Amino acid sequence: MFFMLTACFGSVQEPEPALETTSRAEPAKNLILIVLDTTREDMLLQAATPTIDALADQGQRVERAWSGGTWTVPGVSSMMLGTPVRAHGWDLGSGRLGRYPPLPSEPMLAEVLQAEGFATIGLHTNPYLAEELGFDRGFDVWRRVSDAIMARELEKELATHWKADGRNFVYLHYIGPHSPVGPSEAQILALGLEPSWYEGRGGMEIGVAKRGRLPGAREAYAQGYLGVLADTDARLAEALALLEPYMADSVVILTSDHGEMLGEQGVVGHGTWVHEPLTWVPYVAVGLGRSLPQSLSTTATPALACEALGVAHEWPVQLEDVVTSQREGHFALLLGQEKGVWEPGEPAYAVSLQKGGLGGVHQPPSAEMLEAKAAFEKKFPAAALPLGLVELPVETQEQLKVLGYTE
Ligand SMILES: [Zn+2]
Repeated sequence: MFFMLTACFGSVQEPEPALETTSRAEPAKNLILIVLDTTREDMLLQAATPTIDALADQGQRVERAWSGGTWTVPGVSSMMLGTPVRAHGWDLGSGRLGRYPPLPSEPMLAEVLQAEGFATIGLHTNPYLAEELGFDRGFDVWRRVSDAIMARELEKELATHWKADGRNFVYLHYIGPHSPVGPSEAQILALGLEPSWYEGRGGMEIGVAKRGRLPGAREAYAQGYLGVLADTDARLAEALALLEPYMADSVVILTSDHGEMLGEQGVVGHGTWVHEPLTWVPYVAVGLGRSLPQSLSTTATPALACEALGVAHEWPVQLEDVVTSQREGHFALLLGQEKGVWEPGEPAYAVSLQKGGLGGVHQPPSAEMLEAKAAFEKKFPAAALPLGLVELPVETQEQLKVLGYTE
């Protein structure tokens, strides 16, 4: 029997069930939300990821999930606010290193759950997820760690903050295959990589692959990226082992904040684009108590999670809304297998996304696509940019440089 909070979600139209479901007799107690930074689904499917595969076997893996934005701040904030970039307005570039407006004041997932009495534990690895911008809102603990010590730090937080008799929200954000790409020795051996590419501070810097002057640099970056995905999966296994006693009572969602270009269309990184390697991210869910459609937006995560937890809150984006992504005025909309793209000063175009594909020949968008865009824009009027600038601490700005945000 599905658990459905009809009072809150009304008579919304159910999306076409496409995947297996695990039914629930009662709401889940806890939420475990895992974000692997910069992780594109087509590459994750090629990497050695037994931990993620096991999660998918227990639950569901969405064929085509999109992040609401294509870099960390809009990707994560849209997911926490349950609001598309267009409607919350935070659509700035990462090039403005260090000076940003804070996130919009609408409630974020952790704030809603904290108000319901949840213990809220957040461990993250990306300096952009800064308290100064408001990413800590609603978290009892919001702390930057590294992937290598994530499990150890989680163990400490579980010991001090987990409510054994109450409800809990754990957010784990791994930096994963974000630049610099430094696969482990085991992965260098397993994939037959040339170790000298990865000998820089923390690994191979993305600038080397972006410039592409050295023969083989881009291939080495993409291969190293695969290796780091496997390493991240192993680190995730350590955290999930600690959470194992609580899994039966929990909803687990694993996703990413955006993907990465690895040489497609001649570009590397996550710059000002909405190409499919950037919008398409993993989405694995266990214990939701409902079937997921074949495509969804990570921005629907708060609505999905609250439904499974039996927490009443009206999140702007629901599962049945059309799937969109936005980056500094570049906009993309997914309708079935058709991806429509609008770029400033360019004619709109659509590509067909066959299963596993990244899109092919450009065609004019269909009439249905244009209608869907008009309906989306009507439902979500464009917001003004949030006002006021916050300066990130110098130390944080230095950490951002290491990640390749400036060169
Ligand atoms: Zn990111």
